[in-house]
Amino acid sequence: MAAENPDILLVDDDPAILRLLVRCVETAGYHVRCAADGRLAMAAIERQCPDILVTDWEMPNVDGLKLCQWLRHQNLPHYVYSIFLTVRTRVEDLVSALKAGADDFIKKPVDRNELLARLRCGTRVLELESRLIRLAKCDPLTGLATRRSFYEQADREWARADRHHFPLSCVMMDIDFFKRVNDSYGHPVGDEVLRRVSASLSSNLRVSDYISRYGGEEFCVLLPETSEEGAAVWADQLREKLAQTTMDVEGRQIGVTASFGVAGRSHSTKTPEHLVDLADRALLQAKRFGRNRVVCYQDTDDSSTARSDVHDVNLSFATQRAVNVMSDIAFKLHEGETIVQATERFLQHHVDVAPVVDDEGHLEGVLSENDIMAAMFWPNRRSITVKEAMKSDIEAFDEQTPIMDIYESLCRSWIRNAIIVKDQQPTGVISQETLLRCFSTTNDPEPVAMLK
Ligand code: GH3
Ligand code: MG
Ligand code: MG
Ligand code: MG
Repeated sequence: MAAENPDILLVDDDPAILRLLVRCVETAGYHVRCAADGRLAMAAIERQCPDILVTDWEMPNVDGLKLCQWLRHQNLPHYVYSIFLTVRTRVEDLVSALKAGADDFIKKPVDRNELLARLRCGTRVLELESRLIRLAKCDPLTGLATRRSFYEQADREWARADRHHFPLSCVMMDIDFFKRVNDSYGHPVGDEVLRRVSASLSSNLRVSDYISRYGGEEFCVLLPETSEEGAAVWADQLREKLAQTTMDVEGRQIGVTASFGVAGRSHSTKTPEHLVDLADRALLQAKRFGRNRVVCYQDTDDSSTARSDVHDVNLSFATQRAVNVMSDIAFKLHEGETIVQATERFLQHHVDVAPVVDDEGHLEGVLSENDIMAAMFWPNRRSITVKEAMKSDIEAFDEQTPIMDIYESLCRSWIRNAIIVKDQQPTGVISQETLLRCFSTTNDPEPVAMLK
């Protein structure tokens, strides 16, 4: 609706009244069309849907009541506010008009001021409605389309790709370790980072591409007339650009990376939802094999295994190395810090364990939430150091260790997280959960059998 200038359809079988109404409404600045009875009004509505319908009740062919009933059963692009002009004042009549879908009544003979006041009422209702539609279609934080409007667009593009045999691709993107941005800088800064990333994404699109905020820190882009390979190249450029950008948010220098999953429509992709699902599966692989990367989903004849075209990722569990699977370390503790300081860091980052380092940054031990809990009952607990409370007899793994070795080690011990090192410095962590997720995405039968 053009809110400030709604389109009004006036319907009355009395030409003199119609002329009067048109003049009155037009001089108030509204855009007006008119029809001489209900049937002609139907044709006018089908041609172009008005914002407000003002209709007489008694008319030949189709009367106002039937017109209104018909109106409410049409699949129109937006709500049509309807006002009845009538000499009837009996309650039963008003009730039947309301039942038919009328919004308001004006008594005949029509008073100019009353008509204009009621049109303003209708306009207010329509403005509210269009605001609701905007809310449903646009994400308020980033201004991007919502998931729902993404699928409406995807349906249209899907049909176009079908008709013309155009390629169609989908890219799913998820910001890496975004929870840490919130944990370290607070939610409002996280929001601003989301806005900036959205703006950067939008500015790198062609007009035909369609972007949506699919979830919290997840974005989904539809690339019409683009092959999976083309979409992967686009995604990798974006990935690199994002990784090289530092954002100044409230004086803080923040950098984020993102992982991308890419899928192109093929003969075996059945629906837009299926295409998005394939991109999502590729995204999952990108996360599991190190993040800050692009993984393509190539639809092979007999396999649902994703493989990367941009990064040559080998999905076999047996050959994966720690560096490909590990997560970044949220924070390191210095052995000289107190338990009180360590507790604050744990509360800030929501992790189970943290590596402890010496002055050279070399790994000395690991402190877990359990170790802190145990230390709470020691005498002079406030002055206890991390070194006193940590576990130092831990096994650390080099970044190049096959994850099979780490898996076997975790199976043998009570430890739930393996610390990964490079040159004796801790660089990552692999949890039991991460290993389980790796099993679930590979075709290797043995480790799964071993787990049972
Ligand atoms: P990963 O690399 O595995 O994707 O790690 P992650 O931390 O990004 O993923 P996870 O799904 O664990 O956390 C997503 C975080 O995004 C958690 C949630 O609080 C945050 N988030 C989601 N929506 C918003 C939002 O609108 N504003 C802010 N500030 N944070 C949000
Ligand atoms: Mg009449
Ligand atoms: Mg994320
Ligand atoms: Mg996510």
